[in-house]
Amino acid sequence: MENSDKRVIIVGGGIAGLTCARHLLAQGLTVQVLEASGRIGGRIKTDEPDGFRLDHGFQVLQTAYPEARRELDYDALDLRPFAPGAMIRIGGRFFTIADPLRRPGRALATLTAPIGSIGDRLRLLRLAHRVVRGKLEAIFEQPETTSMAMLRAEGFSETMIRRFFIPFFGGVCLDSQIRASSRVLSYVLRMFATGEAALPAMGMARIPHQLALDLPKGCIRTGVRVRAVREDGVTLDDGTRLPACAVVIATAAPETERLLGLPLKAKSIGETCLYFACAREAWHPPYLVLNGEGSGLINNVVFPSVVSADYAPSGRSLVGVVVLGVPDDTDATLIERVRMQLVEWFGVAAQSWEHLRTYRIVHALPDQSPPTPNPARPQAMTSPGVFVCGEHGSLPGIQWAMVSGRQSAEAVLAHLR
Ligand SMILES: Cc1cc2nc3c(=O)[nH]c(=O)nc-3n(C[C@H](O)[C@H](O)[C@H](O)COP(=O)(O)OP(=O)(O)OC[C@H]3O[C@@H](n4cnc5c(N)ncnc54)[C@H](O)[C@@H]3O)c2cc1C
Repeated sequence: MENSDKRVIIVGGGIAGLTCARHLLAQGLTVQVLEASGRIGGRIKTDEPDGFRLDHGFQVLQTAYPEARRELDYDALDLRPFAPGAMIRIGGRFFTIADPLRRPGRALATLTAPIGSIGDRLRLLRLAHRVVRGKLEAIFEQPETTSMAMLRAEGFSETMIRRFFIPFFGGVCLDSQIRASSRVLSYVLRMFATGEAALPAMGMARIPHQLALDLPKGCIRTGVRVRAVREDGVTLDDGTRLPACAVVIATAAPETERLLGLPLKAKSIGETCLYFACAREAWHPPYLVLNGEGSGLINNVVFPSVVSADYAPSGRSLVGVVVLGVPDDTDATLIERVRMQLVEWFGVAAQSWEHLRTYRIVHALPDQSPPTPNPARPQAMTSPGVFVCGEHGSLPGIQWAMVSGRQSAEAVLAHLR
């Protein structure tokens, strides 16, 4: 078969599917991406109501992601970093802690914040020093336990775990029990220590849009849901059969299991993100604001428009509130409960902050508790002609979606050769 006769179908137009498409196209193959929803991006989407940019859930691009550095043009994304550190709510006050190397002016405030003992700070420095050494891939070959067990074994105090690690890492893996693998914690600390947590100036959706920029016209079809997959093609929801020389499944883990006919094992972890608008104030911080008190619904608050002014119309600020999981509350009750806590944190002005939207994301991430697969070597081919990428057999996140997309493309090419 000539290269141009080889049509590969990719099911799903998220980061993994788009990355896979780019690599196959670069080798001269014909590619068709079939996306069930009305737009590309998968879990990375941005709505733009009334001059605001609302990402579907609070997400950041870690500039240190090695694969993202290769796949993306960071300059074109116009990345805007959050300040390296965090503001933590403890005992009714806010304390700012910052990376002492990158924000030496904040060293004293960081040292005196009541997040833990001097010993805890030294342990954190030691841990940060350890996780940045060696190859990134080596982290995923280390023995693993839960992050909570690792932190206790490292000797961190319960205060430090409660006031810092739970809101910080709980916000990353969306689990207040921080049961995610210790490997994931090491990897996340390495990303924070060696790069910046950033937003593209015009919203997170710029990432998938950039990946799709060079794809030929007609390569992506949206609003097309695949019902079943075989090695020689797919069947759509309306019964149409589309032939292919190979099929790549690039969906979230539960849908991948369904399409492969596997028992449903992937456990979903959810996030609820509420957006509010308020008048722009000088005190809005460029930091993540973390809940170190452990009470109330809010895990963290962000002010994206402080980092990138394009996230809000002129004179206004965007406030993003992250709640772990997806509460049963009605929208009205949820907004009321969150607003009460915002008033407690930011004063009565928060009473009049305008609620913009609430995103309830049932499958934000899969459960990442041990045992976890090695995402540097994801399993690409499941049966001859059927390939997978994305978090199934790997880990979630932009970095691993891109790695798995590239590796599944390489496996397809090897199979067709
Ligand atoms: C709230 C939240 C916060 C996050 N925070 C971060 C972060 O800060 N940093 C980070 O790196 N990662 C973060 N992530 C994770 C990251 O967004 C995902 O891991 C990544 O986007 C997944 O990409 P994917 O292509 O593997 O899957 P998806 O984005 O899920 O794409 C799969 C696509 O397949 C489509 N599809 C599904 N079924 C079918 C079908 N039958 N037929 C056709 N199409 C189908 C879907 O519509 C979807 O577009 C976060 C995710 C969420 C939701």
